[in-house]
Amino acid sequence: MSSGPQAAGAQPVPALFFAQVERRYTQAEGALEILRGTDLAIWPGELVALVAPSGAGKSTLLHLAGLLERPDGGEVYIGGRPTSGMPDAERTRLRREEMGFVYQFHHLLPEFSALENVTMPQLIRGLKRGEAKARAAELLTFLGLKERLSHRPAELSGGEQQRVAIARAVANGPRLLLADEPTGNLDPGTAGHVFSVLMSLVRASGLAALVATHNLDLAARMDRRVTIRDGMITPLD
Ligand code: ADP
Ligand code: MG
Repeated sequence: MSSGPQAAGAQPVPALFFAQVERRYTQAEGALEILRGTDLAIWPGELVALVAPSGAGKSTLLHLAGLLERPDGGEVYIGGRPTSGMPDAERTRLRREEMGFVYQFHHLLPEFSALENVTMPQLIRGLKRGEAKARAAELLTFLGLKERLSHRPAELSGGEQQRVAIARAVANGPRLLLADEPTGNLDPGTAGHVFSVLMSLVRASGLAALVATHNLDLAARMDRRVTIRDGMITPLD
């Protein structure tokens, strides 16, 4: 699952870097300032919690990091590369190959099995079916779903569905995992378990993860906590 050793002597580069990022929504009542020129670095192997009240801008921040939105000022770097000047096709490629996304609701394809749901993004990327299936089975087994490979989403519990969604998010070996309240729809016990497997996966693969959550117990288990206050990303503790 490892993405391989870094070249000897290579300078470490943040998986995600916000430099003076600004984001505002313009409405009839005036501009709603979400980010006011703020910085953030997420390093490889780091698991960072984004904890802020509803409406603070967590999803907005994740959309900017995931290149689904563009900042109104500043720059978003992915793996050290500035993204604002990139053509859309290159942004899409980065998103597909270097990032994984997990949402509050799993968005799995209902007609397909767990194995197929995790195989598919790899086929889209161009992997051979046999290799893609083998990796999907390996990932699902790692996440404790060895006995559920042929189950469709409706035949899985909420926690199992989210674990499949996590497997799908990392199927293409991303460097950056972005998760928007991934356990927000689960009961506390299940949320804790799903989170544990997410953490071991991050640890095993060395990827960087930014996880928005309301759950302070889960946030406490991550490496670092940040919040959004007055349009600035700041340490929470
Ligand atoms: P969170 O995920 O922390 O709950 P969001 O990032 O979804 O917060 O939203 C932050 C604020 O920006 C909210 O007040 C929301 O209503 C507003 N907002 C989000 N998206 C848009 C949009 N496309 N247009 C206008 N306002 C938006
Ligand atoms: Mg949100």
